[in-house]
Amino acid sequence: MLQNLLKEVISLIAGKPAEEIVGLLDTQKYINEFVIAKKLNLTINQARNILYKISDYGLVSSIRKKDKRKGWYTYFWKIEILKALEFLRENLLKKIDNAEHQIKSRETKRFYVCERCHIELSEENALISSFTCNECGAILTLKDNAKLVRDLRRNREKLERDLKIVDEEITKERGKEDKKRGKEMRKEEKVRVKAVKLRKAKLKRLRIKSKELLNVKVKKVKKKRQNKNRQSLVHLKKKAHKKIKKSKRTQKISKKKRI
Ligand SMILES: [Zn+2]
Repeated sequence: MLQNLLKEVISLIAGKPAEEIVGLLDTQKYINEFVIAKKLNLTINQARNILYKISDYGLVSSIRKKDKRKGWYTYFWKIEILKALEFLRENLLKKIDNAEHQIKSRETKRFYVCERCHIELSEENALISSFTCNECGAILTLKDNAKLVRDLRRNREKLERDLKIVDEEITKERGKEDKKRGKEMRKEEKVRVKAVKLRKAKLKRLRIKSKELLNVKVKKVKKKRQNKNRQSLVHLKKKAHKKIKKSKRTQKISKKKRI
């Protein structure tokens, strides 16, 4: 069903022969324009003309890639399904509006016809030409609108059925897009959570490392202080020792003197 609707859209914009392009563009991927031209048996310029026409309505999107060797750009195309369906919807609404307008006009106004020339005139114009045909001079007759109104009503009903189908497809397509967006959002959320975790882990590692470094430093300082203390202790001991020696010596000398 979707394919038929899309074909209708392309046919409205670029003419009936162009509608075969739908079979090629109706994918999630972008398609190389040279592939499109080849598959449709068209020259690249013919294919591009069709694509540009559709592109004017925003119903296809493209990306370009540069050929590194030749240095020129190749375009890749994709159909914008939702936009195409909305275009069709607008078109149908206009047709329904037009049909309603005609039905109302046929039900409320009178028209006159020349049976011979099959010319139709509004009541005002028939009055101006005194109810005679400008072409052949025959007397105009009042047109029976009943059959026409019946046909117009039937046409309007068909258009309304078509509109319902298009609306259903639009709902489906929106559902698909929402699903896709939801999936993308969940993916982004996962990436974000992972990044936060990584950052936390890194911070933790850094904290541990700096703590270790600090510990090493503290140890070094402590050791240094201990060494210093030990050295000064040794020094004090030596000093004390010397003092004792000295005092012993003076004691000896004084003893000798006394003797
Ligand atoms: Zn006539």
